[in-house]
Amino acid sequence: MALMWAAVYHGPRDVRFEEVPRPEPASGEVLVRVHGCGLSGLDAAEFVQGPKMYPLESRHPMTGHSGPIIPGHEFAGRVEDVGEYVATEFRKGELVVCGAGLWCGICAQCRAGRPSICVWQAVMGIHRNGGLAEFVSVPAHILFRTEPYMMCPDVAPLAHPMAVAVHAMRRARPQDNEDALVIGSGGIGTFLTYALVQRGARVLAVDLSSERLAVARKLGAEATIRANNADAIRAELQKRGVVPTLVFEVTGSDAGFETALALVEPGGTIVTVGIASHRVNLDARRVTLKELAIVGTNGVIVDEDIPEAMRLLTIDQTLWNDVAPTAIPLEKVVDDGLLPMVEGRAKRIKTLVDPSITAARPTVMVAPATESA
Ligand SMILES: [Zn+2]
Repeated sequence: MALMWAAVYHGPRDVRFEEVPRPEPASGEVLVRVHGCGLSGLDAAEFVQGPKMYPLESRHPMTGHSGPIIPGHEFAGRVEDVGEYVATEFRKGELVVCGAGLWCGICAQCRAGRPSICVWQAVMGIHRNGGLAEFVSVPAHILFRTEPYMMCPDVAPLAHPMAVAVHAMRRARPQDNEDALVIGSGGIGTFLTYALVQRGARVLAVDLSSERLAVARKLGAEATIRANNADAIRAELQKRGVVPTLVFEVTGSDAGFETALALVEPGGTIVTVGIASHRVNLDARRVTLKELAIVGTNGVIVDEDIPEAMRLLTIDQTLWNDVAPTAIPLEKVVDDGLLPMVEGRAKRIKTLVDPSITAARPTVMVAPATESA
């Protein structure tokens, strides 16, 4: 039996770099040789506080997965092998992006066009084996060819977090020329700022890291502020003439919600993007009196949000160098990937893992990309 290297989650703070059987592409699936897999806040949260979502003990109703799992839902790679009954003609070696989300297609939500809240909803790398491995078998219908976008291989793993941002933005139903406040300029907030700016919004980005805010400015934020208190942010909004009818709370923290409720315009919308790890105290009186809409957002609608994310990422691929400057080897995923994230000392907005390397390398994001890169 062919083996491969993978990062396998066995329990909290127990992710092992080990050899496991290399998957065969099932019927309707494509075997992908992973080029890059991003680490997300969810991966870090599961690493320290999980398993909350990984089906370690129980069996996931859609994927059937149970037991230790290979995480990683933000990945892209090259087609290695194609299983039976795959309608798309994939070429061996071509670069593909994984949409990660899986849906049943027959429940009420799926039929209403909302597969992101499918009753059986599952995600590659959360509910079945994902991209922190040399190879992963992926249902063909959630793979997207990158050639039409001339996408750089190192940019491709950013398609999923960008799609999460696109989905969060679309949940707010932004109108033309609305202003937005983005609280938390990390692995989703950064992409959200860019998506909103491209949509025509003026964005004020809030974070505690001046490095992250410098990236937000480069991506087109009207202004940034390094603060976590409403008064300082309000002063900056007034100085800039930014009127936030849309607020994206990407931190999942009490302070973030407090700021969002204090600063959103009456009649405005708060989108709760960050997954809170605890119950958040929420000043419901403000929601009532300001006639606010509080809107949730879960993952992506693969067929809609992934192509839009790929379009946005390839407007100028050089922009993403500062977001994900380094790729680390798979065997360093705990020491140089997850631990710095959970300990709050991660320097990079997004860490990419490249299972083909044995030492960290700088990422290559150029325009236009060539498929031979
Ligand atoms: Zn469904």
